Amino acid sequence: MKIPKRVIKNLPPVCQLTASVVDAWGGRAYLVGGLVRDLLLDAGALSGGDRDWDIAVDLRGTGKGLLGLLKELQNRTGGRYVFHHQFLTGTLMLSGLRVDIAHTREESYPQPAVLPEIRPAGIEADLRRRDFTINALALALSGPETGTVIDPTGGASDLKLRLIRVIHPLSFIDDPTRIFRAIRFAVRFGFEIESGTLHLMRQAITAGYPALLTPERVLYELRCICRERNALKMLEAVIREGVLTACFPKSSGQEFFGVQVRQVLDELAALVRSGAGEELLMIYLLSRLPVNERFPITREERAAREALMNRTVLLERLSRVRRRSSIYQLLRGIPVPALEILAVLSSGPVRSRLRLYLDELMHVQPQLQAADLIAAGVKPGPQMGRMLERLLVARLDRRVKSRDEELALVHRLQSCHV
Ligand code: ATP
Repeated sequence: MKIPKRVIKNLPPVCQLTASVVDAWGGRAYLVGGLVRDLLLDAGALSGGDRDWDIAVDLRGTGKGLLGLLKELQNRTGGRYVFHHQFLTGTLMLSGLRVDIAHTREESYPQPAVLPEIRPAGIEADLRRRDFTINALALALSGPETGTVIDPTGGASDLKLRLIRVIHPLSFIDDPTRIFRAIRFAVRFGFEIESGTLHLMRQAITAGYPALLTPERVLYELRCICRERNALKMLEAVIREGVLTACFPKSSGQEFFGVQVRQVLDELAALVRSGAGEELLMIYLLSRLPVNERFPITREERAAREALMNRTVLLERLSRVRRRSSIYQLLRGIPVPALEILAVLSSGPVRSRLRLYLDELMHVQPQLQAADLIAAGVKPGPQMGRMLERLLVARLDRRVKSRDEELALVHRLQSCHV
């Protein structure tokens, strides 16, 4: 199969440049990965958008290496490169564009679920090590084959059949992250997971292979899903297929870390309906997973997760406070993403109070600032702190509404030696 020349001409100039340097050296350059899949699905797919560009080069027999190529491209484009010697990969960063360049390689997995060992090899072997047939396509960018789609596993046909199919039977065992990826691509494109592949996927789940993945790799996959437009459907499938419980086998069956699966799915659906994005979905999921201190999550995520896990006590307290300043004092210090999630998942007066805090109270500030208080004769130090707090409380409870009223309050407090 050939891709029209004009499509290749429309690729970013750095792709053409890479191809011509590699060609002059006697090597081969290819566009690979999801780019070729997307191009075959929709010829206009590669124009616009801020996507990463994946190029594979075969420099065997040229006497040149990937590092030399990255240096040459850096000199000729003014970009900046990073080179990972052990993975035979590099990245070239240009303004507004990121190009990942890898040497074509074959892989072997010394054990299930660990990162593979790699050796330079040709493009066909490189494609055969990939996850699914639809992702095992390359577009030749150099030499007489320029424009040819290289398709050793029947990916173009599976694209037409709308099927996600693994390339070999041990695929999910070698790398259980492919279970997440199969679901993600199936939902994203509205494809089916081919029946043999689905069987292999379920076998790998039942046999517990996902538990061999490191938390980093599981969280990376969850983040990729949370970034997708159809994240809910993907998460539903991941949870229903038992993938998460297989990753963290402390929980089992219909229990999802102490909560019914149904409840988790309903809560995720409510969050998505409310417009929650990647950050909130991820924090919610983390609150349902047995995260320990070794999990690679941010400090903010950890704090928000902990707040969510203590939600029963917080919501019970919130149901008892009425005064605006009391609501403020109860909720201040609790990470905003956790409160946003709780506002979606709660109801009645508790929800109204959470929304009141998020939409209004947390933004309230007295008009007078420290310098104004000093001018009014307040001494810097603890007295100042107390005064500012009293002003804030008065503002929150709408007992003062203007700068003059605030000043009057300061004078009253001074006369009472606050
Ligand atoms: P997206 O549109 O989400 O960027 P993509 O297919 O480009 O999709 P990447 O995660 O960027 O996804 O991966 C690039 C390519 O690398 C894939 O198309 C696939 O060929 C290969 N690949 C990625 N992850 C794996 C994996 N776990 N196992 C095998 N091959 C993989």
